[in-house]
Amino acid sequence: MMQTCPEMGALVSHPASKAEILRLLTCAGEAQQALFRAARAARLAAGADAVKLRGVIEISNYCQKHCDYCALRPQNKEMVRYRMDVDTILAITEGIVAEGITTVFLQSGQDPKSDDIVFEAIPRIRALGVNILLNLGEKSRETYSRYFVAGADSYILKFETSDPDLYQKIVGSPLAKRLECARWIREVGMKLGTGNIIGLPGQTLDTLVEDILLAQEMQPDFVSSSPFIPNENTPLESLGMGDLQLTLNSIAICRLLFPNALIPAVSALEKIRKGGQLLGLKAGANVLTINFTPKDFRDKYAIYSKERFVVSLDHARATISGAGLQVR
Ligand code: SAM
Repeated sequence: MMQTCPEMGALVSHPASKAEILRLLTCAGEAQQALFRAARAARLAAGADAVKLRGVIEISNYCQKHCDYCALRPQNKEMVRYRMDVDTILAITEGIVAEGITTVFLQSGQDPKSDDIVFEAIPRIRALGVNILLNLGEKSRETYSRYFVAGADSYILKFETSDPDLYQKIVGSPLAKRLECARWIREVGMKLGTGNIIGLPGQTLDTLVEDILLAQEMQPDFVSSSPFIPNENTPLESLGMGDLQLTLNSIAICRLLFPNALIPAVSALEKIRKGGQLLGLKAGANVLTINFTPKDFRDKYAIYSKERFVVSLDHARATISGAGLQVR
């Protein structure tokens, strides 16, 4: 089936072919502007133009995984570890609710010792009348089910890269396991978010095309493309940042393929370039995540480097109005 929105012309078919994705992924100049215009038109036509705000709380920086790109990996002995208790999470949540934000996003390293805290926090957060999005890593099917039954709506589990060999090499565990978890998340009743990192060593343009094809197969409710950011005290610390243009093109292609999806303009875009999140919104994104983690914890959650860009409400509002959009 070809896209029907006139402004989109025949930029991409559904499902998209490898050749189409590769052409769009690498486009520049006027062709790239046409891609971004088509992505914005798709977002508008799908009624997904208003920007969704999420409030994130980084509840624990303990992690079992060994991802070469991530500072939360247990081998990073420089990191001072913390795990928030339920009352702390609730107090921060109240601040999110007070700002009128309706999605509370709990993120952490893969930390089984947080599970009981999360089980207890979910119904109490839910009682404040907000939705709950989780990004806590790979769990058992039963644990996902318990999150859902407790009141969590949705879960982000990025596949990071579709290349099983690259995934195994960089993450140190099988991609198949991650994809099985993604299936469980859906099966137990939660909405699924997924996505890739752009700029991993050994990744090729073909890998990025395959990433988009994998996302197409998974049909996620949310999808993201994030640039790689080198992180101190990790094996990939001396690599360059991921490519901004490739990331923006990937966001725009995702918008064409998933017109209704929530697609974030991630904080890493702003880390790469001032105004990067604005470019993300102009490429078709429609989510900004505001960081509500208190500074003393936040400084210890040093993903995307110690000098990561911390998204404030003021920055989000200015970015949204700069894009000529409204808050949802
Ligand atoms: N532990 C959870 C998991 O396994 O999904 C979630 C927490 S993890 C910190 C959240 C996301 O951060 C990962 O899915 C990964 O894509 C991203 N991330 C971590 N370090 C990164 C880096 N240096 N560059 C780009 N993305 C990174």
